[in-house]
Amino acid sequence: MSWHSISADEVLKKLNSQRRGLSEAEVQARLAKHGLNVLSTRKKTPLIVVFLRQFLSPLVYILLAASAVKFIFEKPLDGTVILCVLLFMAIIGFIQEMRAQKAMEALISLASPKARVRRQDRQQQVLSKEVVPGDILILEAGDKVPADARLIELSNLKVNESPFTGESMPVEKNTAIAAQEAPLTERKNMVYMGTTVTYGRATAVVTDTAMASEIGKIAKAIQEIKPEKTPLQKSISKLGHYIIIIVLSGAVFLGLIGVLRGLGLFEVFMLAVAIAVAAIPEGLPAVVTVVLAAGMHIMARRNAIIRRLMAVETLGSTTLICSDKTGTLTVSQMTARKIYLDNQWIEASGEGYQPKGEFSSEKKTLELKNESSLELFLKAGLLCNDALLSKDEERWDILGDPTEGALVVLAAKAGMEKEKLEESFPRLNEIPFQSERQYMATLHRLGDKRQAFIKGSPEKVLSLSKHILKKEGVAELKDKDIRAIEEANKSMAAEAMRVLAVAYIDYPPALGKLKENNIKGKLVFVGLVGMIDPPRPEAKVAIKLCKEAGIKVVMITGDNKLTAESIAQQLEMPPGEAITGKELAQLSDEQLHKDIEHISVFARIEPLHKLRIVEAFKRRGHIVAMTGDGVNDAPALEAASIGIAMGITGTDVAKEAADMVLADDNFASIVAAVEEGRAIFTRLRNVLFFLLSTCMGELFILVSGVLFLGRAPLLPLQILWINMVTGTLGAIPLGLDPKVGDELTHPPRHPAVGLLYRGLLLRIGFFAAIFTTLVILIFNWLQQAMPVERAMSIVFCSVVIFEWFVVFNACSDEETIFKLGFLRNRWLLMALVAATALQLAVVYVPFLQAPFGSVALRAHEWGIAIFPGLIVFIIEVIRKIFFPKMFSRGKFQPGSA
Ligand code: ADP
Ligand code: MG
Repeated sequence: MSWHSISADEVLKKLNSQRRGLSEAEVQARLAKHGLNVLSTRKKTPLIVVFLRQFLSPLVYILLAASAVKFIFEKPLDGTVILCVLLFMAIIGFIQEMRAQKAMEALISLASPKARVRRQDRQQQVLSKEVVPGDILILEAGDKVPADARLIELSNLKVNESPFTGESMPVEKNTAIAAQEAPLTERKNMVYMGTTVTYGRATAVVTDTAMASEIGKIAKAIQEIKPEKTPLQKSISKLGHYIIIIVLSGAVFLGLIGVLRGLGLFEVFMLAVAIAVAAIPEGLPAVVTVVLAAGMHIMARRNAIIRRLMAVETLGSTTLICSDKTGTLTVSQMTARKIYLDNQWIEASGEGYQPKGEFSSEKKTLELKNESSLELFLKAGLLCNDALLSKDEERWDILGDPTEGALVVLAAKAGMEKEKLEESFPRLNEIPFQSERQYMATLHRLGDKRQAFIKGSPEKVLSLSKHILKKEGVAELKDKDIRAIEEANKSMAAEAMRVLAVAYIDYPPALGKLKENNIKGKLVFVGLVGMIDPPRPEAKVAIKLCKEAGIKVVMITGDNKLTAESIAQQLEMPPGEAITGKELAQLSDEQLHKDIEHISVFARIEPLHKLRIVEAFKRRGHIVAMTGDGVNDAPALEAASIGIAMGITGTDVAKEAADMVLADDNFASIVAAVEEGRAIFTRLRNVLFFLLSTCMGELFILVSGVLFLGRAPLLPLQILWINMVTGTLGAIPLGLDPKVGDELTHPPRHPAVGLLYRGLLLRIGFFAAIFTTLVILIFNWLQQAMPVERAMSIVFCSVVIFEWFVVFNACSDEETIFKLGFLRNRWLLMALVAATALQLAVVYVPFLQAPFGSVALRAHEWGIAIFPGLIVFIIEVIRKIFFPKMFSRGKFQPGSA
């Protein structure tokens, strides 16, 4: 269908749609017919691959083969049991990983783009994947175009079509009919799925969705979240390399000793296999996935949605948060309080968005019909405005920008309604608001004349003005007037108000479209309005937390310096200098590098400055989390260590560039995410401590057993069981451990410090050594008093019990489990019960005894088995009480204590 070569009305007719949009029933019918609007080209890891991954190391295969050979020739039943056990372990790991993976994908897609559509004459936000052909789209700067669509109306629409052209210069669109044979890039009246609106606005009717869209046809998925390898995963594979080295040297070493001691070839081989199995924490990859998924889930509940996995770990080492002011540090419930018109102050009463209130001057209530300047002021503020006032049941709310919303509410207090006013003064044209421009202008028809209304920052509007509206009429704008206006501006800004100026101009039709050049230096200045936007109380709390956590907070805003400073003060931000974008632009890179640590408020900042700020802070070694919402914030979000997009006010472009999306735009949620990021990292370290402690214990026992006693006290299958079954049962709940509560009381972790640090390794080695010594001494003693199978069974059980003591030691490296509380993690307790049951089964169920080489233990033998683990536990508890920092070396900083 060539939608571009017919008129918009014909397109609407063909699609059986209309300007007011589809009905809900129609949408459902079309959704059923066309399916969800998603590109289904994304490749998934095949299930079988995920399953086979559970047998992670070839060593498991070797073990399998070795055991199989042995048992097939000797005892077929036992061989089958081993196979079943391995399979069982793999299935558990598989299910766990699949579930975690699913949960993670679901969380990431929470941040999936939304689209604005008009349905049944009502503008609403829907998920982009629920858009159907015939839907009326409303597009604005920053939106990602959700489907192919024919433009119906537009105003200065510019679109970035780089997914098709590779060209990032935006192209201008129009609604004129294009030639039938026009190539994609020449169809100016169409917008395509996957492109982004960089400027202006439009309404369009959706022509094709999903795989029927142009990008669907190209069948090349648009930039989806790519699972990149994060430093965490890298450091885990590095750990894998170390382990291989340990395994190889251990195997060679044991092989030599075995041969020297006259062991058979098969026994030596089994020993080598045992070493390999012992040293590898088989459960680790699955546990990491589970910990990350659970952590992301908690973050999402606290309104921080992760888009890139990398963010989870980087968050924990954040040293600096650069935050927007409006809406993030403040509640973004703007209420216009004061108006300044030609030396007259007018106060507006009323609360929130409820359009009730009065205007008064010097305590006297004003009658609007006597106040022509005020009326013009309110009218201009209402017409030059894209926000809507809506009432949901008994609650009044604003659709759109709160700054504009405040003006809609203000005018409504005087009985002015936007829809009605717009009927008499239809909008012809506009210059949309952009942060770097600091104003917005709209052109309206006034009978056969035209008038443009402008609102924006006082500095900007003043610089564009030539006249001023006075009681007695329009007069020349003199220096005296300018000074008075600047004074009024300052006095409101000092009260933490956001100040906007309003102006107008008669615009002869001959001038055509509204252009900056035609209004520059010609405006008639009308007045100022000051609106309050109170700081968020929770942001104040979060800033205090940041202080304790060694995280610097910096405010970045497009607003006035005075306003920004007084908000900073109300929030009790750490003292620092304030600087404006202009001043910033004058600093050289070197000066900025030198001074930036002292600056805590950046005011009148344009998006392009943000990039410079990020880079300057990064150069000083900061790990920078930076917020943003606009199209032009994208480069800064990309450059930041953690780019954070606003979920409510953020554009799709910003969200796509971000690592994390804030569902509630709230500063406190950033700090919550940092806290969770730190907690996740600590959990992973605890899990690693737990798994490696067991591995090291086993390894030491094998090596010293062979070295000193001439035999391995553990069988390969026993080790595999401990690592994969009882170990994983402990590791997963440990990875879901509740927070200790000290996450925000220590300085950020240096990014160079990975999961493993010196203190941790020392701690692992220390306890593995104590445990091994005890086990070997006991084993030596038992060996002389009873059959070796029985002695080995006791050792087998004592390792499992040790594991379970370690899991309680692992909850924290400083606090004892008594202080944290035994009952705080019920998953762990449930897993402990399950693991004990399984271990009892292996020891007492006859057909499991043979493959695991275990015998039924008597009561006092359990007492012996518990002993080494208990001693280790007691020593660690005492150590934590008296020397809590003994193993902290390198925990946060490389080389420090
Ligand atoms: P912030 O970071 O506080 O959101 P912005 O960059 O959005 O700041 O806005 C910068 C300045 O532009 C504001 O201080 C205000 O004077 C002006 N401004 C903000 N929103 C609008 C708007 N919708 N229309 C006109 N001017 C605006
Ligand atoms: Mg803003």
